[in-house]
Amino acid sequence: MTFSTLGLAPEVLRAVADTGYENPTPIQAQAIPLVLAGRDVLGAAQTGTGKTAAFTLPILSKLAPHANTGASPARHPVRALVLTPTRELADQVFDNVKAYGKHLALRPHVVFGGVDIKDQTATLRAGVEVLVATPGRLLDHVQQKNVNLSQVEILVLDEADRMLDMGFILDIKKIIGLLTNRKQTLLFSATFSPEIKKLASEFLTNPALVEV
Ligand code: AMP
Repeated sequence: MTFSTLGLAPEVLRAVADTGYENPTPIQAQAIPLVLAGRDVLGAAQTGTGKTAAFTLPILSKLAPHANTGASPARHPVRALVLTPTRELADQVFDNVKAYGKHLALRPHVVFGGVDIKDQTATLRAGVEVLVATPGRLLDHVQQKNVNLSQVEILVLDEADRMLDMGFILDIKKIIGLLTNRKQTLLFSATFSPEIKKLASEFLTNPALVEV
């Protein structure tokens, strides 16, 4: 199994080659074709399995045809949103998006709490297509009208079990309620408590189960 058979965009494959990865990890081999095909995915995966690239690579590939157009920032609404429980994870996902998207003209950004909100605002207002965020700070930005989420097509709930443990359930539901154009949802979790199963049954449609 090589990356080149999975259906990724050429710009994304080039970025993967730049990292030196030779073969997809099991979760990548399973999830990438499903995400590219537009399926909702329920992923049972721990950190360290390559799960970040498993969702980042196909999402960037799906957005690739719309990148490099040189259109004005106002025409660059958020198309993909990744919610994470912590600043550290948000930063890691953001680093992945930057690395795998480096040959695309997509604008990524990351927002999380614990830092001055003003420093995150200008970039957000200039237009961001791939946004990585922790739930509370994202809602602060929504309230301040720094970002509009109505054009988000793909939502990722990363480490959903930790987000629930940290008490983010209401924030997550509030955010999902704003995604009026949501077409695809990916939920990754290391554990599957009744609460996670409930969240999945509420917000995923006919999800493909990916387990590693
Ligand atoms: P993650 O599970 O997403 O936190 O990734 C764990 C680590 O595996 C990260 O340091 C990645 O850079 C690395 N990684 C991801 N995919 C691959 C791959 N296909 N081959 C080798 N390393 C990878």
